[in-house]
Amino acid sequence: MPDTDKNRGYRGRFAPSPSGELHFGSLVAAMGSYLDARSHQGEWFVRMEDLDRTREVKGAAKSILQTLENLGFRWDGEIIYQSRRTAAYAEAVDRLIQARLAYPCGCSRKLIEEQAKYGSEGTIYPGTCRNGVPQGRAERSIRILTTDEMITIADSVQGRIGQQINREIGDFVIRRADGFHAYQLAVVIDDAWQGITDIVRGADLLSSTPRQHYLQRLLRIPHPTYAHLPLAVDDQGRKLSKQFKDAPVDPNQPMDILLRALDFLNQPLPPQRPETIEAFWQWAVSRWSLKPIPAQLQIPATSRKNLNNLR
Ligand code: GLU
Repeated sequence: MPDTDKNRGYRGRFAPSPSGELHFGSLVAAMGSYLDARSHQGEWFVRMEDLDRTREVKGAAKSILQTLENLGFRWDGEIIYQSRRTAAYAEAVDRLIQARLAYPCGCSRKLIEEQAKYGSEGTIYPGTCRNGVPQGRAERSIRILTTDEMITIADSVQGRIGQQINREIGDFVIRRADGFHAYQLAVVIDDAWQGITDIVRGADLLSSTPRQHYLQRLLRIPHPTYAHLPLAVDDQGRKLSKQFKDAPVDPNQPMDILLRALDFLNQPLPPQRPETIEAFWQWAVSRWSLKPIPAQLQIPATSRKNLNNLR
């Protein structure tokens, strides 16, 4: 589905990784991107990010799609599977190496851990192989050459964010030592190829966004707009336990779970419990706005009461 229509309207997407069933956190991301797309009369695509075969759980992709369907999500076009897009990623890596924007690296994880400082995302690559892989070492991964420049992004929910990639992350990997292309590269290539204009996803990916912005620039592809939905935190502002975020969605209680996700997004809830899933979506699309969504969300929220009133 290459992007041929340059005068397109809104195109959104949901890009789950098939590493387990659809859980509440990813339902919130799916709902946010779906409602934002549909309320702009836009298209909405599903892309299965099944690049990392080592993390894939058998049957998870099918189960995620089935759950989305049971919850009334309707996607446009066909589903894209990243595992079938290797040639496009390989071509981009070659192009970046040719342009001297990326280089082979011969450092093992252990070696980096011994030498590197730690940043918010783990070790900061110290640039050891920038001028060539030292003698006696084999090429393992491919890294992007980064700079000290402050990359800033205006996020529709989180506000303005900035990152100096070289200082905070270091030259990052675009092709891993095990041969798989990295998420950061694949996501950027596929968002451009599918003509995605607006990305709505969880704030766990906020710190990846400057890297993606930087790659878009190096590859000369358009920057989509971003809205990062809040992560759930407890009353003290601590990230909510895995139990809440990772609880699999129960497809047998679709209305309960849809209302809970809508409430989580701080959207107005219907005055009565909708009778059908279609009625739920109609309500939700017609009321949708990014404005009431806070950057961080505290649970238990007062709105839990509202939810109980609907039962
Ligand atoms: N596949 C990523 C995940 O499930 C999401 C990618 C994205 O939305 O950019 O965390």
